[in-house]
Amino acid sequence: METLPTTRTASSNVTTTRYRNNFLREVEAHVEDGEWVKMCMQCGVCAGSCPLGPKWEHTPQKIFMMIRAGKREEVLKSDAMWMCTSCYNCMARCPRKLPITHIMHGIARHAHNLGFTPKAQPTRHFSVLFWKNCIKNGRLNELKLTIGLYFRDGLFAGIKQGWDMRNVALGLVLAKRLNPFELFAGHGCKDHKGITAMLKKAREIEGQRKGLAAPN
Ligand code: SF4
Ligand code: SF4
Repeated sequence: METLPTTRTASSNVTTTRYRNNFLREVEAHVEDGEWVKMCMQCGVCAGSCPLGPKWEHTPQKIFMMIRAGKREEVLKSDAMWMCTSCYNCMARCPRKLPITHIMHGIARHAHNLGFTPKAQPTRHFSVLFWKNCIKNGRLNELKLTIGLYFRDGLFAGIKQGWDMRNVALGLVLAKRLNPFELFAGHGCKDHKGITAMLKKAREIEGQRKGLAAPN
């Protein structure tokens, strides 16, 4: 069972047809807290508050403007929302109290579900890796996660990065914060079935709330 890594091409087609020419309605229906987007008054406080604002393709203010202007592909193909570090600066300062951080993550997830996000996008890659890792045994295997990240750009790059970090790894092993044998087995949580059932239920509820069929 995987929530995050699912790419739904069929869903994308349905969504495209249902909300043709009304991207704002699509966002309201399918994005967490998307119903707040229309409340934005374009004051620019979030754009000015975001520590990454100048480095982004689009600030939250611009993203919300583009949603209302129906620039669907430009928004969904952008990696702007994947850059959000969840610092909550924008949310704390927005005069309209928009849950900006949640909306940014919601748009990222919607873009991912529809298959718009480039597979190489680093935050998306990390999110998928993290999620798959977590749900496998019900808890995170940090060693496998790290190795997955190191080898993202291929075998040579992975070996090089591992070698560069060998002293840190050795220090962690000596401090008993890293167990090399976790690579082969890894320990799980006490109630993996319970966690699986909980995630399934959460997905059902989310599916009902946003009118999405729960993925298999
Ligand atoms: S701070 Fe709030 S109202 Fe102002 S542009 Fe950003 S989201 Fe819109
Ligand atoms: S929560 Fe995200 S969008 Fe808001 S200020 Fe921080 S990095 Fe920028």
